[in-house]
Amino acid sequence: MLYLSTRGHPDRKHFCEILLEGLAPDGGLYLPETYPKVDAATLARWRGLPYAELAFEILSLYIDDIPAPDLRAICRKTYTEEVFGTRAIVPLKPLEEGVCLEALSNGPTLAFKDMAMQLLGNLFEYELGRRGEQLNILGATSGDTGSAAEYAMRGKKGVRVFMTSPNGRMSPFQQAQMFSLQDANIHNLAVEGVFDDCQDIVKAVSNDLEFKRRYRIGTVNSINWARLVAQVVYYFAGYFQATTAEGQKVCFAVPSGNFGNICAGHVARMMGLPVERLVLATNENDVLDEFFRTGVYRVRGSQDTYETSSPSMDISKASNFERFVFDLVGRDAARVRYLFGEELPAKGRFDLSHEALAAREQYGFVSGRSTHADRLATIRDTWQRFGTMIDTHTADGLKVARAHVQAGTPMIVLETALPIKFAATIVEALGREPDRPARFTGIEDLPRRVTVLPADAARVKQFIAAHCA
Ligand SMILES: *Cc1c(COP(=O)(O)O)cnc(C)c1O
Repeated sequence: MLYLSTRGHPDRKHFCEILLEGLAPDGGLYLPETYPKVDAATLARWRGLPYAELAFEILSLYIDDIPAPDLRAICRKTYTEEVFGTRAIVPLKPLEEGVCLEALSNGPTLAFKDMAMQLLGNLFEYELGRRGEQLNILGATSGDTGSAAEYAMRGKKGVRVFMTSPNGRMSPFQQAQMFSLQDANIHNLAVEGVFDDCQDIVKAVSNDLEFKRRYRIGTVNSINWARLVAQVVYYFAGYFQATTAEGQKVCFAVPSGNFGNICAGHVARMMGLPVERLVLATNENDVLDEFFRTGVYRVRGSQDTYETSSPSMDISKASNFERFVFDLVGRDAARVRYLFGEELPAKGRFDLSHEALAAREQYGFVSGRSTHADRLATIRDTWQRFGTMIDTHTADGLKVARAHVQAGTPMIVLETALPIKFAATIVEALGREPDRPARFTGIEDLPRRVTVLPADAARVKQFIAAHCA
């Protein structure tokens, strides 16, 4: 399997070459040359496999430069009951007739990002060890990504993490999760500023090519193909649990921000998984809902990007969206290069209203939007009727899913975080604190390992240099 750039760069690469890279050299995103097709006989053979074995079967279609026994060992080491809490890894929880949640949030940091990041940690350690190289991961987080990355990379040989976050702005639970890590290879940098300042610092450091090369700076952001392909696995695992035979169809509803999660659903569907609809849910930051309703993609400025109670979906543009557009325009790389490389930077928007029908009819996408009031009502209703407590992001997904349920087709709503991560809104909705998994009791009182720095790229560079000796 070879990978190409959505903007038409002539190079073709193998999986392990793009594993440690971000964007392609022309600014595009990597995608496989073709999607491997899975027929009914293969689906039948996969049904009933333990999660780690299913992961191996799917990943081995995309990875031809890791020997099969090694890849199998990496999958087995990653997807364990010990790390993810259940034997099923991603169990379904039934709600009303025809609707269920798929629990993707029982990993180390209680958000679905662990599903991919835990695998990425093991792939990085393997590949860096094989090359005899080291990597310094520099990132910016407003919460979920940074903690998932730190818990995946802690103690890993050859990897250091430098994670910037806006000082004092993450939820108390998220701060405690990250700052209580005592591993020598994990560095928390609390920047005196907002999330955008953190992102600007990461950009400034990455644009210093000399520094980047010298200190082997890399990233783990959501455009990484390895993260995306790891997420494909739980669409298959959800399908097998919700159906009894091949040929039956399901729908998935996905709380969306950067389009990484639902893009994995698109890939699963392109492989032949019988998915009727991919239901995309946004919060008040509805750039993607607007696209799927109108065909117009209009990125927002920072003034028009709202801080909401489902903060991991507060985006102004969706960094993985280019992958879907590439397929939507018939894999016309020149057109993608024009849309994302010229039209969007110049006008802040592009219009694909001629393709909007295909997005729905050919690719199965529908969408909807959810607000703070919807979240509160959905959390309350789900608690009262089923005794199930859901987080704010999952509530957005469930709210939009309910508008798209079709009789006879199971609707699987992806649960993307546990309520304890966003306790303030749960209290607002239910008048009580969310349950806390036992292993997080008292984490707010643990000793903290964090360095506060001004919002200044030079100071962050200094810190990295001093800790890379
Ligand atoms: C990251 C995140 C999302 C959004 O996922 P994308 O892949 O960016 O679309 C939704 N919910 C939670 C809890 C998240 O952490």
